[in-house]
Amino acid sequence: MECSLYVHIPFCIKKCHYCDFVSFPGMEDMQEDYVKALLAEMEMYRGRTLRTVYIGGGTPTCMDPTFVSRILEGIGLCFDTSRCVEASIEANPGTLSEEMLICLKERGIKRLSIGLQSWDNSELKVLGRVHDREDFVQSYRRARRKGFDNINIDLIFGIPGQTMESWSKTLEAVTDLRPEHISCYSLKIEEGTEFHRMLSEGVIQKPDPDLDRDMYHYAVEYLGNKGYGRYEISNFAQKGRECIHNLAYWDNRPYVGVGAAAHSYDGGVRRWNTADIHRYCNMLKKGLPPVEGSETLSADEEMFETIFLKLRTRWGVSFREFERRFGEDIRTLYGEQLKGLQRDGLIETDGRGLWLTPRGIDLSNRVFVQFLI
Ligand code: SF4
Repeated sequence: MECSLYVHIPFCIKKCHYCDFVSFPGMEDMQEDYVKALLAEMEMYRGRTLRTVYIGGGTPTCMDPTFVSRILEGIGLCFDTSRCVEASIEANPGTLSEEMLICLKERGIKRLSIGLQSWDNSELKVLGRVHDREDFVQSYRRARRKGFDNINIDLIFGIPGQTMESWSKTLEAVTDLRPEHISCYSLKIEEGTEFHRMLSEGVIQKPDPDLDRDMYHYAVEYLGNKGYGRYEISNFAQKGRECIHNLAYWDNRPYVGVGAAAHSYDGGVRRWNTADIHRYCNMLKKGLPPVEGSETLSADEEMFETIFLKLRTRWGVSFREFERRFGEDIRTLYGEQLKGLQRDGLIETDGRGLWLTPRGIDLSNRVFVQFLI
């Protein structure tokens, strides 16, 4: 069976103020051991056929190009990639050197996802990013010159101090560059982050929920007019440039995740690796799977997850597909809930499927929780 591969690289140059991902600055010494461990873990899945590959983090491109090259070579040796339709890597401005881009190109990376976050240099400072917009433009142009014709740019809105004016400037500047894909994430202040500390000390204010929604609605309309259709709550793409790897997640399809804290899902059981890099490397040195936990999803949980993930997309849940997969009609299972959600203007249906309305997107948690019952 075909699956997707996610490779987690937990290294970064510096921790951003909002970041709660499994990523660590100042661990350059660990990189060689980590790459060896990754290759050993991939061996455990040898022979799988990959449909998509996604190298994320962290900042994969902050590693030495020779390490990135070894990982990509390892993927090619371990898995059947003859039917692989997309290979992406996340990169930060300032880490896409000529040498790195050549390595990525030669090793089959087709799609770059660059974390710009904001066009405004003072907002980048607030976020604790290590780059400025000039670094980004340089990296972006260099990637284009090297022939990368599928690029995503990540943006954040709701940044402390950000105004509608600066957000619209970010969107304008980014769309002028004509990337194929743009992701817009609403800032969430998570526990354990620098922003959380700053919030509790009164250094920054909580994002204003009304401004957050205004910024989101503005982005949907602006990007739509510029030819970027929203195909998932936070993702916008030119026609045919949707991220195939992420579509597989939202379709609740199997994936293999390798690396510290990576999750795998085989269609019924979800496993996750230890997030401790030292433990991760040590376990693989001993030939042990670095798995920290697993859960077997009941049919109800699998159904809920499928609905939850599919509703995030513009296509929503297809009645026929749902019945083919679970042998049940979603309208019979959740008749009352669907009626209520429709009455409140949160979902829409055309008799073949159902999807979130714009109001449903704003109140998506209220919708999702209905399917937990
Ligand atoms: S670059 Fe990304 S992964 Fe690294 S600290 Fe910043 S937000 Fe986190």
